[in-house]
Amino acid sequence: MTEIISVSSSDQLRVELLSALKSLKNHVKNQDKFAGGLDWNKARIVGKNIKVAARNSKPDLNKICADMAGCQRCQLGKARHNLVFGDGNHQAQVVFVGEAPGADEDEQGLPFVGRAGQLLTKIIEAMGLSRKDVYICNILKCRPPQNRNPLPEEIAACEPFLKQQLKSISPWIICALGTFAAKTLLKTEVPISVLRGHFHSYEGIKLMPTYHPAYLLRNPSAKKLVWEDVQLIMKELQN
Ligand code: URA
Repeated sequence: MTEIISVSSSDQLRVELLSALKSLKNHVKNQDKFAGGLDWNKARIVGKNIKVAARNSKPDLNKICADMAGCQRCQLGKARHNLVFGDGNHQAQVVFVGEAPGADEDEQGLPFVGRAGQLLTKIIEAMGLSRKDVYICNILKCRPPQNRNPLPEEIAACEPFLKQQLKSISPWIICALGTFAAKTLLKTEVPISVLRGHFHSYEGIKLMPTYHPAYLLRNPSAKKLVWEDVQLIMKELQN
């Protein structure tokens, strides 16, 4: 028998059906929004940037240094007295990168504090700056025995930390002191005598290779060339 629906109950049914249809439509719209059609940029704003900010933020120098504490990633860790992480202004415009700590640096835990370091300090002061204005570090953070040249596996173990340091400071200019610093940062075998005197690029940062201060102690006539390189840095800083 056909069910008889009164006018009022059919109106009621229509209202209920319309309401059900509306909520179904909203549900489908939201499904689309939160699945394929999601605008990640808007979602990021809604999400208060937490993840993105963390990913894009610069690594903290103290944290990078703490990550290296007790480092035994290469054989140099066994014999060192102190790990020489780096020293200076964390927001420096200029970063000097040397080769590796020597005996004095290993003893004090600070970069460039021996004879070569005193010459580097003079160069920095001749630029009208002080050691507090710049940041100084090395390719290797531990002293190689008898100050021998860094080995490829030692550079490979230490380089990720240098990269993080440079990313953290994000300087205007890097001055690579000597062959090892220049070759490691620029990934080249071109000799320092050819590299120096011109700006190169390290991950978008201007990089000036020049002779190492220890080389200048043995070859004082090269001081003139270093002064030329340093003047190019000074000019660039003024721009
Ligand atoms: N030579 C370097 O390359 N770095 C130092 O810290 C000291 C001497």
